[in-house]
Amino acid sequence: MSNKDEVRLIVDGKRLDGRAFDELRPIKIKVGVLKRADGSCYLEMGKNKVVVAVYGPREVHPRHLQDPVKAVVRYRYNMAPFSVEERKRPGPDRRSVEISKVSREALEAIVMKELFPRSGIDVFVEVLQADAGSRTACLNAASVALVDAGVPMKGMISSVAVAKVDGELVLDPMKEEDFYGEADMPFAFFIRNDRIESIALLQMDGRVTKDEFIKAVKMAKDGAMRIYKMQKEAIKSKYVVESEEEVD
Ligand code: ADP
Repeated sequence: MSNKDEVRLIVDGKRLDGRAFDELRPIKIKVGVLKRADGSCYLEMGKNKVVVAVYGPREVHPRHLQDPVKAVVRYRYNMAPFSVEERKRPGPDRRSVEISKVSREALEAIVMKELFPRSGIDVFVEVLQADAGSRTACLNAASVALVDAGVPMKGMISSVAVAKVDGELVLDPMKEEDFYGEADMPFAFFIRNDRIESIALLQMDGRVTKDEFIKAVKMAKDGAMRIYKMQKEAIKSKYVVESEEEVD
């Protein structure tokens, strides 16, 4: 790619893909896409395409990993070699280990682990196509897949990033904005009873001022609430279709 200073990301007050600063990329969510998983979700967020399979609560192997008082949540973020422009070497790397860790910690805020001592809840995440914000897309899908698996939860996780590009804050950055921008901040919120309860994930790459940070949090919260509504709709629509099929 060319020099960061040569690329203009905002032209005539619009982003390169025509979005307003506070606009999300189009989102598609499909629940229960995998027959053999206890819960699953396919999600698109712009050009990101991800699929999540949830297994559990189930017995943990090897046994020494069991926790006698609560369930163990495991999260594996994996990027397919064909998910990015230049083939990615298969298997885990530093980045995927980091994303898996922070994402697991975000989900641990909502899963009612105390109900399932000695058991494990496994969240397998496959990125089929990546275009920045893949960790946020995966968390949104994982949260829906956990609901689909019937795992008792205190609420939902809804996740979106905010970036600073050409001096402006923008919601849900795509690849060029992430790559050439001045800062990238992925957020995930714990949402309970249709309200944001707390921040479950916050990372920062780059620099912003204190005022920009406060504005970014507000922007991310608004975006996450819109995503949350779509997650809820997707879950509901699965059960509407299923109950209609039963009648036929
Ligand atoms: P996120 O996808 O959560 O924004 P990053 O900021 O680390 O995570 O990555 C931004 C984007 O960079 C990814 O979505 C992907 O499009 C691209 N990318 C990440 N890792 C690789 C890689 N190993 N090879 C090529 N592109 C990559």
